[in-house]
Amino acid sequence: MTTSTVKTNLLGLTQQEMEKFFDSIGEKRFRAGQVMKWIHHFGVDDFDAMTNVSKALRDKLKAIAEVRGPEVVSEDISSDGTRKWVVRVASGSCVETVYIPQGKRGTLCVSSQAGCALDCSFCSTGKQGFNSNLTAAEVIGQVWIANKSFGSVPATVDRAITNVVMMGMGEPLLNFDNVVSAMHLMMDDLGYGISKRRVTLSTSGVVPMIDELSKHIDVSLALSLHAPNDALRNQLVPINKKYPLKMLLESCQRYMSSLGEKRVLTIEYTLLKDINDKVEHAVEMIELLKNIPCKINLIPFNPFPHSGYERPSNNAIRRFQDQLHQAGYNVTVRTTRGEDIDAACGQLVGQVMDRTRRSERYIAVRELNAADDLPQIAVNRI
Ligand code: SAH
Ligand code: SF4
Repeated sequence: MTTSTVKTNLLGLTQQEMEKFFDSIGEKRFRAGQVMKWIHHFGVDDFDAMTNVSKALRDKLKAIAEVRGPEVVSEDISSDGTRKWVVRVASGSCVETVYIPQGKRGTLCVSSQAGCALDCSFCSTGKQGFNSNLTAAEVIGQVWIANKSFGSVPATVDRAITNVVMMGMGEPLLNFDNVVSAMHLMMDDLGYGISKRRVTLSTSGVVPMIDELSKHIDVSLALSLHAPNDALRNQLVPINKKYPLKMLLESCQRYMSSLGEKRVLTIEYTLLKDINDKVEHAVEMIELLKNIPCKINLIPFNPFPHSGYERPSNNAIRRFQDQLHQAGYNVTVRTTRGEDIDAACGQLVGQVMDRTRRSERYIAVRELNAADDLPQIAVNRI
């Protein structure tokens, strides 16, 4: 009879967990910091490359541990500099990660689940249904992969990734523990050293978990509002039937005041033609948010096949923005980036099946090209 041991994946371990791990194998705790720097600062997954670790310990680690990120299926680079990775997670599903450069800022949009159970009516991820929660290693692994693609650098050096938003696929608060661990790693100097103001969790409104979040971490919060009243929000964001607006906004206010410093909530509002884009909706929204320090990010709807929704005209978008602006709000309109690689918000995974099939072709191309010493991952310039 053969016994197989499951190796511990060190990629998703927080500093505390890593120290515990080294304790448990009879090694000094300071090894945690050494190994974490190799993994996160330098993108190393081979213990033999960890040259300040003794040969004996490297051999021991090789036998019981591994550093394994999700499998990269494809990497696309848009003509505007946006990048998109499709990665396969343990459940076999694919999720997407998007990098958006904008001036000095580089924002990585990270997925937390394969699919989503919450079924917001205008979201292609929701239309897929729920498949699986990502592990902490799979969540932080997306940052690890992206960072490596820019030539991993220590947190103290100018980095390509300055901000992370949990706005990819899935509802991050429904994969709480893994997302919280991964966000700790994003902020830890032994991880990616990103300031807590620049790590943002976006939620559609899982009220009890917003309260829970404040006990664990102090990242920035974004709320996907999308409607200024319960009747409309019940239709667009079904979880609203369980946690209606009053309850939701109170929990956001509690979270923001738990941060103990002046920070504002981000309100995300996807504009859907003739559904929630009228002046009267803006007026109602102003009234709803009047006591909440916030900035507003309008997201013109990104269409996907059979969605049944349309993007409002530029005039309608501007009218809506002006209305909020006149009431004193800081309002931005999210521009669509990476359109040529289907990287827009809310379109993620809509194309994954096609993409996966296409990716099989890319893998074949990669193998064909291996002799030419091309990069390991097929990079498709479109
Ligand atoms: N589940 C989380 C985070 C992921 S979605 C949440 O709902 O907040 C990130 C943002 O994109 C959310 O505000 C979401 O409502 C919005 N979104 C989803 N589908 C969209 C689409 N087709 N067009 C524009 N925005 C969309
Ligand atoms: Fe899930 Fe967010 Fe999409 Fe709603 S908008 S279905 S919560 S991923």
